[in-house]
Amino acid sequence: MSKTQSKAVVIGAGFSGLAAAIRLAHDGVQVTVVEQLDTPGGRARKFEDSGFVFDMGPSWYWMPDVMEAVFSSVGADIHSYLNLVRLDPSYQVWFPDGPLKIPAGSRNVRDVFEQLEPGAGAHLDTFLEEAKAKYALGMDRFVWESGDSILDFASPTAVFQLMRYSVFSSLSKHIRSHFKHPQIIQILEFPVLFLGSKSDKSPALYSLMNYADIELGTWYPMGGMFELVAGMVALAEEKGVSFRFETEVEYIGERNGHVSGVQTQNEFLDADFVIAGADYHHVEQHLLAPKWRRYSPEYWSERKMSPGAIIFYLGIDRKLPGLEHHTLFFDVPFDAHADLIYETPGWPSDPLFYVAAPSKTDSTVAPEGHENLFILIPIAAGLEANADERERLFERVISRLEERLETSVRPHIVVRHDYDQSNFESDYNAFRGNAYGLANTIDQTAFLKPKMKSKLPGLFFAGQLTTPGPGVPPSLISGQVAAKEAQEWLKSQKKGMEAAV
Ligand SMILES: Cc1cc2nc3c(=O)[nH]c(=O)nc-3n(C[C@H](O)[C@H](O)[C@H](O)COP(=O)(O)OP(=O)(O)OC[C@H]3O[C@@H](n4cnc5c(N)ncnc54)[C@H](O)[C@@H]3O)c2cc1C
Repeated sequence: MSKTQSKAVVIGAGFSGLAAAIRLAHDGVQVTVVEQLDTPGGRARKFEDSGFVFDMGPSWYWMPDVMEAVFSSVGADIHSYLNLVRLDPSYQVWFPDGPLKIPAGSRNVRDVFEQLEPGAGAHLDTFLEEAKAKYALGMDRFVWESGDSILDFASPTAVFQLMRYSVFSSLSKHIRSHFKHPQIIQILEFPVLFLGSKSDKSPALYSLMNYADIELGTWYPMGGMFELVAGMVALAEEKGVSFRFETEVEYIGERNGHVSGVQTQNEFLDADFVIAGADYHHVEQHLLAPKWRRYSPEYWSERKMSPGAIIFYLGIDRKLPGLEHHTLFFDVPFDAHADLIYETPGWPSDPLFYVAAPSKTDSTVAPEGHENLFILIPIAAGLEANADERERLFERVISRLEERLETSVRPHIVVRHDYDQSNFESDYNAFRGNAYGLANTIDQTAFLKPKMKSKLPGLFFAGQLTTPGPGVPPSLISGQVAAKEAQEWLKSQKKGMEAAV
């Protein structure tokens, strides 16, 4: 073990790997990030075609406090790296009877709710008060811990608050105890539906997402979501992190009962510890010797994954009035598609879908007078890719867009790229082609998620399959927590060795 500067390898230049690398380098560790692709960002990469700049994954910039903390915790100011704007409306939901804009700020949302359901404004106040307390509890207690043990959550105050807010009862019940109007219910349920599971299977803890939505707001980094990746890479390089792209880790080395480094296709990189920001299942089941695997193939086959996604990246040679930066199309029966995602996996005939049109806010992501569209259809996890079904869904979604917007779209498509489960598998080694990791179900929450600490001492997992879960902010947090855990582990190793001599 090095007596001078500690050495770490981080596998994967996605958000979790970048957050870990920044933290470690700031603390004086010599860090090498090894990424199999030719660019950083992982699921949040970007690509360009004919003047259109497409963010490949995340488009909702929520919980800006977390991104800010990643920078400020190492003495940097995020605003020197990003030009963030708050969107207003935050988003629009297209219901069967037409579009409804959700404005920025809880006072304005209160008015919208009140118009839909008399009395719902006051109910929103109490709902958000509780959601705010859960957010504070989550941020304070849950997410900044490794979650390796129930003890991480078991302080008397935390237990009292958990009981008080019945955080493990269902989110569906919790929302319905405050509101009756189906549109309000759908607005409050959509964050968990798109990122994890149906609200009747999600713990009420996740109403903290409604606080993030309505109070903290929807933001956008000008230039696109990739700007956050670029800002983090710049910060990492300022701290001395070195990056190796197009370098795939083939296995994780072990010496004397702890990690010794990683083998890439070119060389063996020595390390005092390793943080794996690549998909947990891939690292554990394919890069680690069997005796160091904590979980069996059966364990993995029993995991409930969050929905898969079919994505169309479209360049349109005209503007499309009627769309906002974010529009959710809930204009067909909600439960029919939700059941095909979560209950009996199958292809929807008329899907719910989501359209991002960042060109509504940002003129740099499309040529002048053009529209940049990202269309996402959630589908059941593990459903085998099927080009015919994908094409049918594409046609259906474009027809629906034309009907709802009352304008022509099809003849104006000048750029089209498709992305599905098979791409997630081949690009990211994603287990069952998952887009957003494990479903946020009650039995896969907090300490019930795959553990951050490996059975192999010195290997730590970060990213959307471990605590605290899927999404940009949780992945960033997991990287930072894994970095902290790894350094504590190394310190205890060194103390042990000193005591032995
Ligand atoms: C379509 C889509 C939309 C989303 N929308 C949102 C949103 O709007 N808001 C939000 O907050 N979140 C969103 N998310 C979730 C969010 O993007 C992810 O949770 C987050 O980016 C995951 O980061 P990560 O570091 O865990 O993994 P990744 O981004 O997947 O990074 C892992 C990296 O490891 C690399 N890797 C894998 N195997 C190896 C190997 N053997 N050797 C070297 N490198 C390897 C991969 O190439 C990859 O770059 C979305 C995700 C998707 C897919």
